[in-house]
Amino acid sequence: NFEPNVKIKNTDLNMAAPETLLKLSDVTLRYDSGAGPVEVLKGVSLEVKGGESLAIIGPSGSGKSTLLNVIGTLDRPASGLVALAGEDLSQLNDVQLASVRNNRIGFIFQAHYLLPQCTVLENVLVPTLPGGKSDSREKAPERAQRLLKRVGLGDRTHHRPGQLSGGERQRTAVVRALINQPQLLLADEPTGSLDRASAQELATLLLELNREEGVTLIVVTHALDLAHKMGRVLELNDGRLTQAT
Ligand code: ADP
Ligand code: MG
Repeated sequence: NFEPNVKIKNTDLNMAAPETLLKLSDVTLRYDSGAGPVEVLKGVSLEVKGGESLAIIGPSGSGKSTLLNVIGTLDRPASGLVALAGEDLSQLNDVQLASVRNNRIGFIFQAHYLLPQCTVLENVLVPTLPGGKSDSREKAPERAQRLLKRVGLGDRTHHRPGQLSGGERQRTAVVRALINQPQLLLADEPTGSLDRASAQELATLLLELNREEGVTLIVVTHALDLAHKMGRVLELNDGRLTQAT
């Protein structure tokens, strides 16, 4: 008779539950202004599950970009914990952090930061150049073509940024951010330089990519209509994160 020697534990039954991808615990950060240190993040705690879409809103100067930079390992917090997929980022050296930034996190900013002399295809392949994820590098051209087609740029691959509309440039930046198959996509005011129609289109696209590519999405935005398309909205106020009302 077959006797299972391992009993099914309660935790095994929860396997399908999404794991925490990102965890911040009591994160603080201060800048040194001329008039002394200014505390921008005053104990931010946050847990984001894999596959979630999250918007962060809040007044100008409330620290939204700073928070995104801490999550994206561009800034180190003064205190507190930042963990990506269970790994404490404060334990990593600069080379390891650079690899996390290039391979596991995608960034989109208000400005597209595309290389003006390079084509759309060349631009989106930049993160796969030596230093990029090696398994991603081999399949990168194929993946680039697929994603460019997906975002409606299939016939723009050999254009240069100067020949594109604002929306097309931002969509190129989105593909570049996704080319190494990051776990986390961070977008800081991604629609800030777009007209209303292009902004709506980009917001919808980000959400679709969140679902289709399985990338966890955190968007900082002023645009409340965009924010409320996301699965969850949090507000940064006076250096603290609260549920948006
Ligand atoms: P938000 O993105 O919400 O507008 P930021 O994160 O850019 O806010 O900035 C939060 C505060 O930190 C602001 O008061 C800003 O002036 C200050 N700040 C941002 N970056 C720096 C820096 N590198 N040095 C000093 N102060 C900064
Ligand atoms: Mg900002």
